Amino acid sequence: MIKYADVIIDISHEKVDRAFQYRIPERLLGKLEAGMCVTVPFGRGNTPRRGYVTDITEKCTFDPCKIKEIQDLVPGGVGVEDFQIRLAGWIRRSYGGTMIQALKTVLPARNTVKKVEHKKVLLSLGREEGISLLGECQRKKQAARVRLLRELLSEGELPYELVTGKLMVSPAVIRGLQGMGAVRVEVLQSFRNPVKRQQEVQETEKTLSGEQQAAVERVMKDYDGGDPGTYLLRGITGSGKTEVYIRLAREMVSRGRQVIVLIPEIALTYQTLLRFYRSFGDRVSVLNSTLSAGEKYDQCERARGGEIDVIIGPRSALFVPFPQVGLILMDEEHEASYKSESTPKYHARETAVYLASLHGASVVLGSATPSMEASYRARKGQYRQLFLTRRLTGGSLPRVYTVDLREELKQGNRSIFSRKLQELLADRLEKGQQSMLFINRRGFAGFVSCRACGYVMKCPHCDVSLSQHRGERLVCHYCGYETPNARLCPECGSGYISGFRAGTQQIEERLQALFPAVRILRMDADTTRAKDSHQQILAAFAAGEADVLVGTQMIVKGHDFPNVTLVGVLAADLSLSVGDYRAGERTFQLLTQAAGRAGRGSEPGEVVVQTYQPEHYAITHAAAQDYEGFYQEEILYREMMGYPPAAHMLAVQIYAASEEAGGRLAALLVRQAGEYVDPAQPLARRTVIVGPAPAGIGKVNDIFRFVFYVKDRDYDRLILVKDGLEAWMTQWQSGPRRPQINLQFDFDPMNTL
Ligand code: ADP
Ligand code: ZN
Ligand code: ZN
Repeated sequence: MIKYADVIIDISHEKVDRAFQYRIPERLLGKLEAGMCVTVPFGRGNTPRRGYVTDITEKCTFDPCKIKEIQDLVPGGVGVEDFQIRLAGWIRRSYGGTMIQALKTVLPARNTVKKVEHKKVLLSLGREEGISLLGECQRKKQAARVRLLRELLSEGELPYELVTGKLMVSPAVIRGLQGMGAVRVEVLQSFRNPVKRQQEVQETEKTLSGEQQAAVERVMKDYDGGDPGTYLLRGITGSGKTEVYIRLAREMVSRGRQVIVLIPEIALTYQTLLRFYRSFGDRVSVLNSTLSAGEKYDQCERARGGEIDVIIGPRSALFVPFPQVGLILMDEEHEASYKSESTPKYHARETAVYLASLHGASVVLGSATPSMEASYRARKGQYRQLFLTRRLTGGSLPRVYTVDLREELKQGNRSIFSRKLQELLADRLEKGQQSMLFINRRGFAGFVSCRACGYVMKCPHCDVSLSQHRGERLVCHYCGYETPNARLCPECGSGYISGFRAGTQQIEERLQALFPAVRILRMDADTTRAKDSHQQILAAFAAGEADVLVGTQMIVKGHDFPNVTLVGVLAADLSLSVGDYRAGERTFQLLTQAAGRAGRGSEPGEVVVQTYQPEHYAITHAAAQDYEGFYQEEILYREMMGYPPAAHMLAVQIYAASEEAGGRLAALLVRQAGEYVDPAQPLARRTVIVGPAPAGIGKVNDIFRFVFYVKDRDYDRLILVKDGLEAWMTQWQSGPRRPQINLQFDFDPMNTL
């Protein structure tokens, strides 16, 4: 049989968008695999060029008379590129999609745009003058000017992007100060020095606490002893995790290794960046969403060329082509944004562990509320555990009040604010302290519950909440179970059974009605649509321009407001009852984070959690700040139901323009997947298929979505299922008059579709 290989040529020089087909010579048959490096004749002169195999097929898509043959296999590694290709191969195998998609994920797009200018902002005034101007701006309450001047007085100069981005100072403010001759903006020649200060700011060397010291020593001792590993560093906010990251990074850099620091985009705050800049100066660089493709490419070139030692960024920073990575740090390891939402849907945690294995590097995962995955693996001995138990910043843990909304209804309070919350809000307004109110609306929360007794309509098979589907039926988005919409509560018979419908705007209106003088800022998808508006709202709140910040969960993450002493969670049930097995975990994390927002300053904080299910373990353990207790109960549920991390779960997602065709194909695919169910296996070891079901939001942009799940304790079996379905689909699509249908895979999904 003749076989063909798709080969992409010289990846560092071309855009990765097309592969060329070559015939595989007999002697290489069976030896060649996707991801391998080969030499091929290229172009009219048949110049030998190096290329990478992206796929192997039996179908010739090129003129068979003109097709050329692969010359040879390039044995052994080829440096950085080889790592990248192997990583892409692993991503493709573990998460699905094509090799080209995996390569596009892993390799930076070539720089096709003109180099962008890089600018910096400098203080033009002497120190005395600067301080006196700062005082004047403070008196005039010019918050943005104050922020900029204060930083410039301490740093001398700052990258322009940092000023307008993380420091939240608008170009107009900079121009204003420029007009006064207080600051100047200079254009940098290249991207070489995104940060360089005139006078080095001496960061006073902190003496590490005993726990911090132990963590650093453990990781370095293992590394130096030739036994690098993956570590789970659990420590509450303020326990000194970032300090440990910086120390570890410094140790690695002193050994000539490079360091990747992963941070969720939302937590890439100015303060965090500055701490790294102070330690690594122009040997550190940042990747974030505000960089253009060209700028990202520049960063990768600098990394490849040994110009930088440390890169900080969201999950894609993993793909920066360092020659020899010593350490990968992953802060807020539990964050859902570490999972890619487009194919290949890779998770940065597992990908980091694989990448580290290629480089012989260590991985440190940090979190106050580790994901179930990380804790589970740590307990199984796959990860090594490190703890930071004390808060170094002082400040006491906030006091948490759980309010039972069923009681409120019984007492005749139909307001969305409980009496406790109203009382504390009034108190803060009187004292001139700030409050935050949030509803944790995320994804699709179409669940139905009883406001009298708290009963939630659940799927009898999957133990997740049912969701309203087109207003008529209740549907399980895992298995497709359906039941008519309830009119009366099946538990207590009351008519107060309904979907949940409080929005941020409604909260703002009710709050204004309750306290006419209150100054409110609102932050949600509506008010943050414009560029930078997210930052502006936070800056305004930090500057004391409002008493209350009302918003979705985006307000509880990664921001520090010392004057906030009250946090109200208006409906904890919104995240508790999304039809998703991670609902409890997410609620626990959100509530713990929200509680952490209150009382950062000298004043103690209070938290009010309003809920219809005050006895739910996610809520009781969050109120007690008891991670261990939560984990123990949650893992029982995961084990009983066969959900990750106790088992693995592959979501097979079908996107179709026709509802009927999509549903039909979903059924065919389920039957196909059924071939992998081995009835001879004991129940606990057997592959389980759940669904198909219409997706939570069944139709988006006129595309109908269906999903089914395959569960197995063995990840590799799920890869087999995925490969089988992919092959079947290719076959099916080559048939006559096939409708346009797109198939996607999501392993251990973070969200229900
Ligand atoms: P986390 O990342 O866990 O929230 P950080 O590393 O940001 O914690 O530390 C919290 C605060 O404590 C920071 O202001 C930091 O400067 C300070 N800090 C950290 N380690 C020490 C230490 N060993 N001695 C004194 N202060 C420290
Ligand atoms: Zn009821
Ligand atoms: Zn179900």
